Amino acid sequence: MFVFIILFSGENNMLVVDHVTKKYGKNIACNDVSFVLDPGSLSVLLGPNGAGKSTIMKSIIGFLKYSGSITVNGIPNKTSEARRVLGYIPEMPSLYPTLTVVEHMEFIARAYKMTDYKGRIDELLERFELADKKKKFGDELSKGMQQKLNLCIGLLPDPDILLLDEPLLGLDPHAIKELKKMIEEMRQAGKTMLVSTHIIDSVDMLWDQAIIMQGGTVKARVTKNEIEGRNISLEDLFFEVTEGLSKEDLSEDEPEQTASPEKEAGV
Ligand code: ADP
Repeated sequence: MFVFIILFSGENNMLVVDHVTKKYGKNIACNDVSFVLDPGSLSVLLGPNGAGKSTIMKSIIGFLKYSGSITVNGIPNKTSEARRVLGYIPEMPSLYPTLTVVEHMEFIARAYKMTDYKGRIDELLERFELADKKKKFGDELSKGMQQKLNLCIGLLPDPDILLLDEPLLGLDPHAIKELKKMIEEMRQAGKTMLVSTHIIDSVDMLWDQAIIMQGGTVKARVTKNEIEGRNISLEDLFFEVTEGLSKEDLSEDEPEQTASPEKEAGV
């Protein structure tokens, strides 16, 4: 097993998670977690269920008490300055049964003191096929529609740093395609993003850094360039790190014929 280490590059880091530990009673949900999100980068946070992905995201956004430090451009994450640039889309939607779809959006727009938000609301509802559900109440929406509204609410304020916790869960194929397109657009616009998933197959978008967690700790951090240099897929790395399987173990069903150039080269 190997672990890539990315050294902190010092100043000008958008978000720094530094030795964060979160305990629930005796259960250590995150244990000494450190990583950096560089400005304008897309990082994927991978790990099986219970790895600590949601806990670290909730810590970054400032919902939890923890030991260690989290800063945004050097400013502690729980300050109002940091909160202004941080956005979070939770895994589970929490909607108001007595507000309609459009009222949810307007509520968020006002909370973020947005001006001129009507066009953006319409665009988001259109993109996620909720435009004809504007007048439906939160509890009248199907589970998938609730997930889409949850996304629209999180995307509306257009924060500089966006944390997306398992954002593809419960979405239909159109919404998955649209969300991936939006993530790419936000990346091009220079946003910093952290996207968690336990479904390794879903990571087919462009990413800059992958952080693999298991049992509350960071098992590996790797950049796209490093992984390409090693001629290994992210999926292979994931199983190597989380299950101790080598690339050869993973392809053991394939008949062993003549030695491949990669094997000869010891890759
Ligand atoms: P993931 O998002 O990777 O699935 P979580 O961060 O949700 O993992 O959970 C990490 C660990 O913390 C798990 O063991 C989970 O049971 C525990 N945990 C999460 N939330 C709570 C909570 N509110 N109270 C007690 N334990 C929790």
